[in-house]
Amino acid sequence: MLTPASQPTEPESKAKAAASAAFVDVRDLAFRYGDRKALDGISFSLDRRRILGLLGPNGSGKTTLFRILCTLLQPQAGQVRLAGLDPERDPAGVRRRMGVVFQTNSLDQELTVAENLVCQGRLHGLKGLRLKGRIDELLERFDLGGRRNSRVRSLSGGMRRRTELAKGLLHHPQILLLDEPTAGLDPHIRQEFWEHLTDLRDSAGITILFTTHLMDEAEVCDRLVILDQGRVVTEGSPAKLKERIGGDVIVMHSPDPNALKARIQGRYQGAVSVVNGAVRMEQHRGHELIRDLMEEFSGEIQAISLGKPTLEDVFIRETGREFQV
Ligand code: ADP
Repeated sequence: MLTPASQPTEPESKAKAAASAAFVDVRDLAFRYGDRKALDGISFSLDRRRILGLLGPNGSGKTTLFRILCTLLQPQAGQVRLAGLDPERDPAGVRRRMGVVFQTNSLDQELTVAENLVCQGRLHGLKGLRLKGRIDELLERFDLGGRRNSRVRSLSGGMRRRTELAKGLLHHPQILLLDEPTAGLDPHIRQEFWEHLTDLRDSAGITILFTTHLMDEAEVCDRLVILDQGRVVTEGSPAKLKERIGGDVIVMHSPDPNALKARIQGRYQGAVSVVNGAVRMEQHRGHELIRDLMEEFSGEIQAISLGKPTLEDVFIRETGREFQV
């Protein structure tokens, strides 16, 4: 049957709808353990081929959200769509499209790298040359070719994480979920691991979501969702979030921070707050203000520092509290 040119065929219209919708869409997600609210109306979305970080202090709901996204827990309210699919209706479909890397070790320490990957591949129905080819490809991608026959227990922490990554990617997922991916690794190993993840986004088109409580890890994502007490406190690219603070952050220590805050507020415009016993100000051209503050309040200031806004400053501004892990 011919279809008029202006009317898309069904597969075309589905494809268009899918293209216009976000690749990951989370709406009004809620979850409580008994009386305790763990997630209290979480919403965010993400386009394909992007990296999203879920940053939050302890107890902010990261693990609960992670478990819902990877289909281990069902939300009590709200909706999740991953690659256009509803994990509640089609958990198997979502799992086929998703790779998961847990924070805890999931490798058999007594098996070799290749043996671990073969076992995982078989669980996904891969075998023979197809499985071997995929394992070769991933070992090469993650610089593990020389260690394919090493027992996992002999590997460094960074190599184990890369083996976990290879394991999560064996079945060609479109989405990769990682829980605290580089917690416990040295900074340079962490950076190396992140280079692999950004390469997966850029060269393999994978959409990546990860949870973290580490500010430097959160810096690398395209989109950051900051959580606190089960809610989204703010979201955007790390650079934009820091830009919103506008200028510099001045932190002053004083024997009586509340009195100093009141005196500064009486003299200067702009937000002044006391966070964990220190007086904070956000100010353009902060170095000029520091000079004035030291002249006017020298007797009340024990120490003063000036810095460019960090993600921690973003968290403090949104919650009025320091970020505590
Ligand atoms: P995070 O991973 O950011 O530390 P969680 O999702 O583990 O956050 O926890 C969110 C909230 O839910 C916290 O207040 C935590 O104490 C509570 N919580 C988590 N798991 C349970 C559980 N199994 N039973 C009761 N409360 C829980």
